[in-house]
Amino acid sequence: MIRVLVAAPIHKDALKLLESSGFEVIVKEYPSNNELVKLIKGFDALIVRSKPLVTRDVIEAANKLKVIGRAGVGLDNIDLEAAKEKGIAVFNAPGAPTNSVAELAIGLMLAVLRKIAYADRNMREGKWVKKECLGQELHGKILGVIGMGRIGRAVARIAHHGFGMRIIYYDIIRCPREIEEELKAQFLDLETVLSEADVITIHVPLTPQTKHLINEERLKLMKPTAILINTSRGGVIDTNALVKALKKGWIAGAGLDVFEEEPLPSNHPLTKLDNVVLTPHIGANTIEAQERAGIEIAKKIIGFFKGK
Ligand code: NAD
Repeated sequence: MIRVLVAAPIHKDALKLLESSGFEVIVKEYPSNNELVKLIKGFDALIVRSKPLVTRDVIEAANKLKVIGRAGVGLDNIDLEAAKEKGIAVFNAPGAPTNSVAELAIGLMLAVLRKIAYADRNMREGKWVKKECLGQELHGKILGVIGMGRIGRAVARIAHHGFGMRIIYYDIIRCPREIEEELKAQFLDLETVLSEADVITIHVPLTPQTKHLINEERLKLMKPTAILINTSRGGVIDTNALVKALKKGWIAGAGLDVFEEEPLPSNHPLTKLDNVVLTPHIGANTIEAQERAGIEIAKKIIGFFKGK
């Protein structure tokens, strides 16, 4: 019998799908690295989300593992090199979180520009901070998208069609002409996007090339009235440089869902800044995205073993 270790919470319908296909499903959510090294023996398939880490130790300890399924997009918690060496297939569910992450990015833009979280914090302390909450509209502003893939395009669509924003973007690959026409999006170099946009939203994967893509020098290119939204991976921004930019007023604010260190330490300088809105990596954390991700991965794993 094919044995599947589900090491992160996935949608109940995905578990049912695996079981009804005759697989033995064992759920052990978020084991520690040591636990996973011990647990993995005897399993044919492993399902994870952004956690737990599937390190080389885990992969080397596996004696039957043939496939790893990531119920989500980012594969940075899986040692892909080690998996490849052992001939273990790795699947993800790339489209599942797109809409959820895009909606969160828009939510963070509004939260920063309209100071929603700041207003809420103050009201709970009995303070009526109307004057301090002079905001800005998205309508008519320039949105700079860095990484115009699935999520970047979904954000651009909402921003353009819903808020009347003008779209400029940077990517290593230019979008097809139909997409550029639909969104009236202009393809520019990174420096120009950073210096022209009112809102920058980041949607590149974390790779050696994108690590600290947004550094001190590039933050200085942004308008002092502009805001930076990051729902991609924390490592794409040099956090120390960002804190400096926010404190010195090089940029007006930031909305961040992802951090170089997660969970963000409670005393982190970002938590002390009023022009920042923070969320704990909840981009894909919706009922709909989890359902889509779990089912997509379950189907891929079933297909893998049934030879489809
Ligand atoms: P995607 O692959 O569809 O798009 C990524 C885009 O980045 C592509 O167009 C690619 O060409 C571009 N890119 C890659 N390297 C680049 C570079 N060096 N410079 C410029 N552009 C580059 O991926 P997606 O589905 O849009 O997801 C984007 C990222 O969002 C994921 O990699 C993941 O890290 C992150 N994500 C976060 C959450 C969350 O919970 N906050 C959830 C899902 C995904």
